[in-house]
This record gives sequence, structure tokens and C-alpha cells, in this order.
Amino acid sequence: AKEHGKNQYRFFNGEMDRVISQKTTIETALHEAIEKKQFTLFYQPQFDVQTGELIGMEALIRWIHPKLGMIPPSVFIPIAEETGQIIAIGEWVMEEACRQVKAWNEQIGRSFRMSVNISPKQFLKENFVEHIHSVLQQTNLSPNHLDLEITEGVAVFNEQYTIHKLQQLKQLGVCISIDDFGTGYSSLSYLRKFPIDRLKIAKPFIDGITEEKEDVAVVKAIILLAKNLKLRVIAEGVETLQQLHILRSLQCDEIQGYVLGKPVSAHLFSKTYIENQLL
Ligand code: C2E
Ligand code: CA
Ligand code: CA
Repeated sequence: AKEHGKNQYRFFNGEMDRVISQKTTIETALHEAIEKKQFTLFYQPQFDVQTGELIGMEALIRWIHPKLGMIPPSVFIPIAEETGQIIAIGEWVMEEACRQVKAWNEQIGRSFRMSVNISPKQFLKENFVEHIHSVLQQTNLSPNHLDLEITEGVAVFNEQYTIHKLQQLKQLGVCISIDDFGTGYSSLSYLRKFPIDRLKIAKPFIDGITEEKEDVAVVKAIILLAKNLKLRVIAEGVETLQQLHILRSLQCDEIQGYVLGKPVSAHLFSKTYIENQLL
């Protein structure tokens, strides 16, 4: 602690220093990670609930640190968001994910859709739309094969700006999903105003559907809401067959979760989900 005059803070500052130095360490390490290309993308399959067909995948970043091993995104994404490093990381993710899905689609003549997580700072960056546009051109990926997962949080910053940006993205032809739907604290009014395509029901609601009547009611209501607004709806974090059966009976459109497939490397994803489509 620096402030010797304020002894009462010393105790708290000890803990704070530790947290801050850990943050600084990660920030420095992240800088190196970007330069040395220590990131990789894992992919998790998304299926049509009624037909059981693979329709696409979500790209999930992994950081393989030479000494620390695999560092989960829950640890470094929030820090990268704070330091602004998320911009460089996000641009790499976008390029890699688009390149990968284009390669898979070419390989087997299908049109899988790649979902990419977009953090608020990335979305709000002034050249975001231009970057997406240039990646689509570079990779020659059809825009409707790209899905951007954004969170309700982007609405909080400036609703008008967000609507404007979403309209520009729709003009490009990409899909837009609301990630973790139902966990934000924004009002639902944005649903009418935002040009979006899909709601992703957050895992906490799915967790309870086999035990809690209330969670079934909430999930049922979200699905109805989506249908009435002509949006598609996907459940994430589906872990059991029982949950899967309930979601199917509730007419949920799509499903993602450990019960059907965990996130895996591109190589394993290809072996497990792509190559067998050729049979
Ligand atoms: P998310 O976007 O909500 O992604 C879903 C998370 O739940 C992933 O964790 C996934 O591995 C995990 N998951 C999927 N199915 C199941 C299941 O059935 N059970 C359980 N327990 N978990 C399941 P992951 O990969 O650790 O990512 C955590 C979060 O980090 C993501 O949450 C997302 O917010 C963020 N993230 C990941 N990759 C990126 C990225 O490329 N860019 C940005 N901005 N954020 C990312
Ligand atoms: Ca997501
Ligand atoms: Ca999510």
C-alpha cells in the first residue's frame, strides 16, 4: 500500500495489490499471447432439435500458455475487455472462425453457420462493421453463415447507436443472436427495436427445467415470445437427455450443450462432426 498516512486502508490494500498485480501479470501475458499466437479456437456443435441435424457451431477461445497451460476465457476475457486487448483478440477470433467454417462448408458442400462471441467493447468500436465486412470478403464466406452472439449489455450503453449498428450488420447479411438471454437486467422493449434473429436461452434456466416448475414456465415463455417475434430460439448448456426431451416438447428450435457435444479442437470437431457428414 502506498498511502502510509491512511493506515486503515493498508489491510484492504494488501488484498487489492495482489488482485491488481495478478491483473497486470495477465495483461502483460496477454500482450505476449497476442504476439506469439497462443490462442486457439474450440468449437461446440449446435443441432436442430426436431431433426437432430448439425446446423452450426460456436467458436470458443482457448489460451494455451506455455507454462500455465490452458487458461479459460472466464479468466482472461473480462481482463482483455477492460484493457482493450479484446479488440485485437476479437479480430483474430473473427478471422479464424470465418476461415474455418468456410473451409468446412467447402469441404462437404454444406452451409453450417459459425457463431462468434462479440464482447461489448468490440461491438461498440467504430470500425466493427467494416472489420466484419473485410473478413467476409477476405474469406469469401457467405454473410448468412456468420452469426454474431451479442449480449443485452450492448443496449445499456446507447440504444440508438446499438440499433444503428445492428441495422448496418443486417445490411451486410449476417445473423445476430442475443446470448445469455434473460440474465441481463435490461427491459424487454429492445426486442421489438433490435433487428435480431435468435435468442439464446441462458444455461441457468435450462438447469432447472427438470426440477423446477418455475424454470419450465420461464423457458416456455421465452420460446413463445421468440415464436411470436419470429425469432429462432436455442437452448444452451443442455446437459441431460431429460432436458433435451423437455425442450423438444416445448418446440425449442435448436440445442447446444454437453449432452450432444462439448467444445473441442478444430481437428476433433472435424473428425467427429464434419467428416461423417460425407458418409
Ligand atoms: P458463453 O458464450 O455463454 O459460452 C458458453 C459457455 O458454456 C462455454 O464456456 C461452453 O464451453 C460452456 N458450455 C457449453 N455447454 C455446456 C454444458 O452443457 N454445461 C456446462 N456446464 N457448460 C457448457 P467457455 O468456453 O469457458 O466460455 C466462457 C465464456 O467466455 C463464454 O460464455 C463467452 O462469454 C466467453 N468467450 C469465449 N470465447 C470467446 C470469444 O472468442 N470472444 C469473446 N468476446 N468471448 C468469448
Ligand atoms: Ca456465446
Ligand atoms: Ca451464453
